[in-house]
Amino acid sequence: MQKNGLLGQLIQGLCCLPGVGPKTAQRMAFQLLQHNRNGARLLAETLLRAIDEIGYCRECRTLTEDSLCGICADSSRDSSLICIVENPADVWIIDQAAVFKGRYFVLHGRLSPLDGIGPDELGLDILEQRLATGSVNELILATSSTVEGEATAYFIGELAGKYHVQASRIAHGVPMGGELEFIDSGTLSHAFNGRKQI
Ligand code: ZN
Repeated sequence: MQKNGLLGQLIQGLCCLPGVGPKTAQRMAFQLLQHNRNGARLLAETLLRAIDEIGYCRECRTLTEDSLCGICADSSRDSSLICIVENPADVWIIDQAAVFKGRYFVLHGRLSPLDGIGPDELGLDILEQRLATGSVNELILATSSTVEGEATAYFIGELAGKYHVQASRIAHGVPMGGELEFIDSGTLSHAFNGRKQI
């Protein structure tokens, strides 16, 4: 079988999925072509549309196909309460747990000076502008409990203090070094309700 033929290219392409190695990619490719061409077509078309149409919300920087995401556009949500997260996936996870009715701000990473990731790379200049307007009452820092996540939370806490905005850190039940995507909604609920002012 030709490795650089179309089938080989498909298998190689599938390897870009997280957690998918060559063997799994091979299984996926054969399964799709032999048993589910309709599903494969839908996947391919949706993926293309998603790549072309999904960008970032101008307010909170999460993923959305509109200039303003559904959460930022929802006037019933509390815009004075902002939950700071590292990734768009965290917004999705926290919102599914339905423990939070404010807005979000996505950093797209965490402070890591050695990797050249400073405050501007995380959009903190945009966040600071928001704090300066006086419309924000509280920042809930939901960055990961990794060393960089803690350092990022501390830095943003200081920034909040500069504008007399209360900052709190989600606390209970979040394991050390934990990333939000591995936490169940019950634990997440405790983490929000038990947040500590910093
Ligand atoms: Zn938004």
